[in-house]
Amino acid sequence: MTDAKILNIGFDDTDSPKGMCTTFLAYKIVDLLKKQNTQFLDFPKLIRFNPNIPWKTRGNGAVSLKIRTKNPSKIKNQIKQIVEKYSDIKNGANPGLVFYENDTIPKQFTKFSKLALWQLINRKQAKIFATKNNLEFFYQGNGQGLIGAIGAIGYDFKDHTLELLSYRKNSKFGKKRKLFTQSVKIMQEKTFPYTFNSFDVKKNRILITPHGPDPVFYGVRGENVDSLLHATKILKTDEKLAGYMIFKSNQGTGDHLKNELNIENMKPYASGKITGVISNEAKIVKGGHVFFSISSDGHELWCAVYKPTGMSSVALGLIKGDKVCVGGGIRKASKNHPRILNLEFIDVMYLEKNLVNSNPICSKCNKKMKSKGKNQGYQCIKCSKKSTNKIILEIPRNIKKQLYLPNVSAHRHLSRPLQRIGRVNKESKFDESISWFHIYGN
Ligand code: ATP
Repeated sequence: MTDAKILNIGFDDTDSPKGMCTTFLAYKIVDLLKKQNTQFLDFPKLIRFNPNIPWKTRGNGAVSLKIRTKNPSKIKNQIKQIVEKYSDIKNGANPGLVFYENDTIPKQFTKFSKLALWQLINRKQAKIFATKNNLEFFYQGNGQGLIGAIGAIGYDFKDHTLELLSYRKNSKFGKKRKLFTQSVKIMQEKTFPYTFNSFDVKKNRILITPHGPDPVFYGVRGENVDSLLHATKILKTDEKLAGYMIFKSNQGTGDHLKNELNIENMKPYASGKITGVISNEAKIVKGGHVFFSISSDGHELWCAVYKPTGMSSVALGLIKGDKVCVGGGIRKASKNHPRILNLEFIDVMYLEKNLVNSNPICSKCNKKMKSKGKNQGYQCIKCSKKSTNKIILEIPRNIKKQLYLPNVSAHRHLSRPLQRIGRVNKESKFDESISWFHIYGN
């Protein structure tokens, strides 16, 4: 037997809307490796990539693992078999699996991963990348999964969060999840600000349970292991769960919107932010969605604010000349629409004075004067005092110079919640004393 090797394993696109989940596959792989006493070097990583790509199943997530092993080829074979066995290929999964044996991750991985966070990457590019860098890779279907698989190994965290995902027993897959609403509400209150986006207080809605047939029962997101474990003790359900696993993630970091968009060469499905001045004030359309445009470096960009985000009133309050930084994803142009930025935040940076011409106010009666007819001046109807010219009135603005975010239930996995603004989670200690993986007894 040779010396122990460090092995990075990345995989993605094993699921379909009809079942499975890439994180569950990770849980199965970890279970198998743990039974063989494999040494884990970090939390499993759950990386969310560009949320605007059209072919994601749900949240465009991929997983990577970092282990130390004396027998990498045995482990590679086992994982290959599990990926083959569990991937939902008949329902459209295109799994990708990548192995990379090294402790440090070269810069080109990080670059690839960063691009996948906000651009649309061609799957040919992923295959070229894997070949050029001598990666061991496998795929089924069209190989789209290689993008996430490579990206999940290469992700360079500047900030991170953790998510505890609990899994159901096989017999419960596809059945309704019953989690006591009140317990989620209490959990959020008791663990704030160390967990986030668990419960929408405005709508009295649970945000931690998925709605599809996948094996996840709930996922609690937060800043550290202790808070997540504390949260699970507060949550109440009658269902006996199979187990849980804690992932390190870029969820809640807003990392996909750090990229600066450029109107001249922005591509459809790109994510990012851009600063500009309001050039067309907001119009509301059927369904309550709102559209306005900004001008940036002499180019115009239309922005859409969808009703569920709850930011429509902010958009409607913007006037020409206001300066904003807006972030979101570019929707492809269609016959009826130009390219549009679907907004995920509005940061109001400058508010123009809202000045309007108005009839003069009578200084004695404090009443607005009436026009006496074209070019004939104005007169107070109470005291008959006259005046010749209109005056300029400043209308108070109903929005503020601040950052506006969507309602929590409209957040994407990557959206940075308000409570995380300014927070940077640099290191999460990892060793085998931490309870990051657990199978419940019967
Ligand atoms: P889940 O959240 O349940 O894991 P999902 O939403 O992650 O599902 P996938 O089935 O993994 O959906 O599909 C996403 C696919 O898009 C994967 O094949 C992934 O490799 C690929 N992908 C990820 N980022 C990009 C990108 N920037 N450009 C092109 N393809 C991408």
